[in-house]
Amino acid sequence: MKLLSAIVPCYNEEENVPYFYEEFLKNDAFFKSNDITFELFFVDDGSKDGTVAEVKKLIAKDARVHLISFSRNFGKEAAIYAGLEKSGGDYVAVLDADLQDPPSLLPEMFAALFEGYDSVATRRVTRKGEPVIRSFFARMFYKLMNKISKTDIVDGARDFRLMTRQVADALLSMKEYNRFSKGIFGWVGYETKWLEYDNIERKKGETKWSFWKLFVYSLEGITSFSTAPLAFAAFMGVLFCLLSFALIIFTIIRKVVFGDPTSGWPSLVCIISLISGVQLFCLGIVGQYLAKTYMEVKKRPIYLVKEEI
Ligand code: UDP
Ligand code: MG
Repeated sequence: MKLLSAIVPCYNEEENVPYFYEEFLKNDAFFKSNDITFELFFVDDGSKDGTVAEVKKLIAKDARVHLISFSRNFGKEAAIYAGLEKSGGDYVAVLDADLQDPPSLLPEMFAALFEGYDSVATRRVTRKGEPVIRSFFARMFYKLMNKISKTDIVDGARDFRLMTRQVADALLSMKEYNRFSKGIFGWVGYETKWLEYDNIERKKGETKWSFWKLFVYSLEGITSFSTAPLAFAAFMGVLFCLLSFALIIFTIIRKVVFGDPTSGWPSLVCIISLISGVQLFCLGIVGQYLAKTYMEVKKRPIYLVKEEI
């Protein structure tokens, strides 16, 4: 008998929890025929609705269901981490509660593991039902990210994964506070098979990701998995040094040949504001990395548990 731990991060998903459970149980026959038992971890990420109550209802009738409830909202990344830490299965699956990660795909994912893969990942090949602007920026982000980071970050990759305990332990060994899971999955490596499917819209409720939240998250991804912006800041410094050298020579020659000391005022203002803008921008980049370092150095816990069943 092998044990599968399924981790389901939930933030205000009271409507989806029962559906998810029902849908997940449809794999029962498959599990039985392959000698797999499962434990289902609902990680309540500080929900303000009845998510906890819904999970408790399930626990009352099924001993395989577990609850980890956070003291507040720590984010999906923290929920995944908690699930990995608390579960002990030979296989670990991470699925969203809103059924955008269909549990019906699990048999196909297991087939890949049985073939010898260490991990099975999924990516959606369409972005049906998503605002056009959001899709555009998402594509840009992945293009940029793959140029400036050595870690492979796949466009459209979901956090829906099935992996062996070895991979789960590898994920746990990355104890960083700023957890950009798309990058973390790529960073640990291992033999990964990619399954593709069309985007599925969430069953009930609304996405927790506003455009602004996604934008901030993308910056997190860049600073967590690339130091290219720092190199860019240094490059700008060198570029502007060279430029000012050229300008000095130009000014000296103009003075000697034309004897014109005052006509440069407007251009001077332009140059000063341009360079100070670039300086502040570069300082901001350095600040971003400093802020991340600051948060890491504090070594705050990734999550705090309020209740565990
Ligand atoms: N989620 C979470 N904490 C959060 C935000 C989201 O645990 O702070 C969970 C949410 O309940 C869902 C999954 O993460 O199971 C994905 O969230 P959502 O569907 O809002 O994101 P999307 O699918 O739109 O990317
Ligand atoms: Mg969703």
